[in-house]
Amino acid sequence: MNLVGLFGGTFDPIHNGHVVAANAAADKLNLEKVIFVPAGNPYFKTREGELVTCSEDRLKMVELAVEERLNFDVSDIEIRREGPSFTLDTVRQFKEVAEQLVVIIGIDALVSLADWYKPGALLEECRMLAVTRPGADPKLISRIPIAEIEKKIEVLDVDTPNISSTKVRQLVRKGLSLEGIVPQKVIDYINQRQLYIG
Ligand code: ATP
Ligand code: MG
Repeated sequence: MNLVGLFGGTFDPIHNGHVVAANAAADKLNLEKVIFVPAGNPYFKTREGELVTCSEDRLKMVELAVEERLNFDVSDIEIRREGPSFTLDTVRQFKEVAEQLVVIIGIDALVSLADWYKPGALLEECRMLAVTRPGADPKLISRIPIAEIEKKIEVLDVDTPNISSTKVRQLVRKGLSLEGIVPQKVIDYINQRQLYIG
């Protein structure tokens, strides 16, 4: 059966850390493809009062980053959906078209899993692959207050670059180069739309 990876995030903007993590997941699990799913309303971020770039720009940047990669795709399913972007809703919608799903997630984002919308139901609906990330301790998984959590989550130890969207936004604000950190077409888009300079 074909296995499809779902990689959700704010992607504000997408960067090479996301690309390396997605590639590593695809290799490890022999995925048919990885579908990037930009969040429409990333409730963890907006409730903390963070400003998030409009969904059209974030979606466009993911499209530019994945367009030449045959095993990568992008979905606007969460952007089109009203209300907060719950992964469980996304997985259920994809299950209507995909045979088997695995949710790909960075370890830092996984740590808050118990606060997600119906995490128990989510773990029953799909596999979950946690990708290591510089600065995020894989042992933190054992502290997630969900019974037998370590048996339910697969961990992929991979040397992803120490990049975050936060750092990318700071670099732009300081007028510094994004070369080698963000795909070139995304750099061009950021410049053309004058994102992150305010
Ligand atoms: P921000 O700094 O705005 O939070 P981010 O770089 O963490 O941005 P997100 O859009 O929040 O990017 O992350 C989407 C997903 O990608 C999350 O599951 C996150 O853990 C994962 N991720 C982001 N950067 C990396 C990286 N360098 N290595 C591995 N996983 C990553
Ligand atoms: Mg993040």
